Amino acid sequence: MQTIKAAVCHEFGAPLVVEEVQLAAPDMGEVEVTLDAVAICHSDISYAEGAWGGQLPAVYGHEAAGVISAVGSGVSDFSAGDPVVVTLIRSCGTCPSCAGGKPTICETSYNGDGPLRTSDGKPLEQAMACGAFAEKVVVDQRQIVKIPQDLGKDVASLISCGVITGVGAVVNAAQLRPGQDVVVIGAGGVGLNAIQGARIAGARRIVAVDMSEDKLAIAKEFGATHGVLATQDQPWRASYKALGGRGADAVLITVGAIPAYEQAPRYLARGGKAIMIGMPHSGAKASYEPVMLAAVGQGLIGSKMGDVVIQRDIPWMIDLYQQGRLKLDELISGRWSLEQINEAIADTKTGSAKRNVILFNR
Ligand SMILES: [Zn+2]
Ligand SMILES: [Zn+2]
Repeated sequence: MQTIKAAVCHEFGAPLVVEEVQLAAPDMGEVEVTLDAVAICHSDISYAEGAWGGQLPAVYGHEAAGVISAVGSGVSDFSAGDPVVVTLIRSCGTCPSCAGGKPTICETSYNGDGPLRTSDGKPLEQAMACGAFAEKVVVDQRQIVKIPQDLGKDVASLISCGVITGVGAVVNAAQLRPGQDVVVIGAGGVGLNAIQGARIAGARRIVAVDMSEDKLAIAKEFGATHGVLATQDQPWRASYKALGGRGADAVLITVGAIPAYEQAPRYLARGGKAIMIGMPHSGAKASYEPVMLAAVGQGLIGSKMGDVVIQRDIPWMIDLYQQGRLKLDELISGRWSLEQINEAIADTKTGSAKRNVILFNR
């Protein structure tokens, strides 16, 4: 056990407390990563508000990048000094989902105690198998991917959740073909990445739908060809107009709001697919007219973490960034210290489009 600083949630809805906690050494197949950066994701906020339950006290945080500082036994592909991104995608590699190429929905459950303890030795939940609102994490080696030495850790941290979720949903879940039309509902962190994913995938037209004019303007910087204000009556009519009088081949729902889920099929063309990415709170329900889907061959498809295979997709996305084809720097709205994490979370909750990143100055 070693002592590190972490931002701990003791009570749902209360501010996180930056305090000393204990971290175990990496076990078999695990690595210890000393973090340089962790971004704040809406999922962290939903957890901290109690939207999805879970054990307390807990350490959230799952969009991280850093340098390996120790490896456990049986780790041969990584060594101390390697720069990596850390993801929450823990996969066994052999269950039917993993074997079928979908490690994001690995079927193996991991019931260990986790590597974290409070300073007085009590259980401390490593949320999302990461616990990255902390100076260091100990994670399974399958959760990490090596990155180039010269890649900034602040931009790298974004790749491990928001970028793979948005871009991955376009290429892996929607399987967009060049020339197809796309609607992206929500122009926040994931939405902007779905928009630039659609641009990279060769979409013909990309309609961003959001409640905010400001976010629609930012969406255009990321590749949206049209913007539609969600606050107007029957906003899908404006989308039809933008798409030359028809619906979209793919609609990506990147927010957790139920009205967005219920309206999404309205934006679809015949045979189109709605990809469900945003995570509503547990227990929230949406309703549909099934006949509308059955009669015209439309589909509703759930997508977790962009259905990525991190070892395949993250190196590709880093190349896109380094070639100037994927915007990452522009996704960062603020840089904060761990001590400022509650301010950074409050800023994220104001609905700003982009990501706040915690930097560990070491
Ligand atoms: Zn996330
Ligand atoms: Zn598995």
